Amino acid sequence: MSMKPLLVLIAAGAVLWTIGDPRSPAPRTGACGDSVAVSWEPASPRRGALFRVRVTGVDSAVRLSGSVVGEALHLLADGTGAALVSLAPVPIDGPDSLDIVIQCVTDAAVDTLRERVATASGDYAIERLRVAPAFGRPPDPATAARIERESRRAAEVARNAHATPRLWREPFRLPRDSRITSGFGNGREFNGTITSRHMGTDFAGVTGAPVRAANRGVVRIVDAFFYGGNVVYLDHGAGLSSAYLHLSKQDVAAGDTVERGQQIGLVGATGRVTGPHLHLIVRYGSVTVDPVSLF
Ligand SMILES: [Zn+2]
Repeated sequence: MSMKPLLVLIAAGAVLWTIGDPRSPAPRTGACGDSVAVSWEPASPRRGALFRVRVTGVDSAVRLSGSVVGEALHLLADGTGAALVSLAPVPIDGPDSLDIVIQCVTDAAVDTLRERVATASGDYAIERLRVAPAFGRPPDPATAARIERESRRAAEVARNAHATPRLWREPFRLPRDSRITSGFGNGREFNGTITSRHMGTDFAGVTGAPVRAANRGVVRIVDAFFYGGNVVYLDHGAGLSSAYLHLSKQDVAAGDTVERGQQIGLVGATGRVTGPHLHLIVRYGSVTVDPVSLF
């Protein structure tokens, strides 16, 4: 068989796919009815930040679910009871636009709404750092395996936060009142060799200064990690988790429930650091986001 008919078939397939693109606005009939409306703020969420999704007009017979970039939404009644709201993440490295996918299910029908959201650039800078040589070279195989194990455990806490009900009511608060010394998302070059992004926020502090829980949650990890030093990982539920790195002391144990603002440890200089500070990580599901977008 010559190549020509095959190419024609591929072209025909591409045209059909374009016509059938599920992202084009679907007629609003079926389980969602005509009343369900999806909105979000800000209008163009920043890449690497959280944004807010709002769904109104949902009939009580409808079971509603939703997702953004494959992460489940946790649509819960807002204060007024008029809307269901959830936080949602935008990954730092794109895309330029994403879909809010809302599914309505009744005993009789299933309906999917998609709203296309344009995302805005995060405008992140590049910093060059010098650190102790042990951290500037690629790790030996045993250390690499350890780093891999630790990052798998951290990823599991983040993923499992979807399975924990929302444990918080009040807004998130800063873990320290101090100055932010390095913001989220900046590109980092260590000793001119390793380049990575700063996927957290650094807060100033001397060794021994208090570190407080950003909100109510369950302690999932208290351990010493290669990069993070002494760490505490909290699961806040409804998809959110936070982590506190480089501590000199941990004041909590895995399984503890901590309150918003409770002291969970002390600032330190353990792990990969240039000096004492707190490195805070916030994740929505598996997506690491700018902690400041939560406060
Ligand atoms: Zn940091």
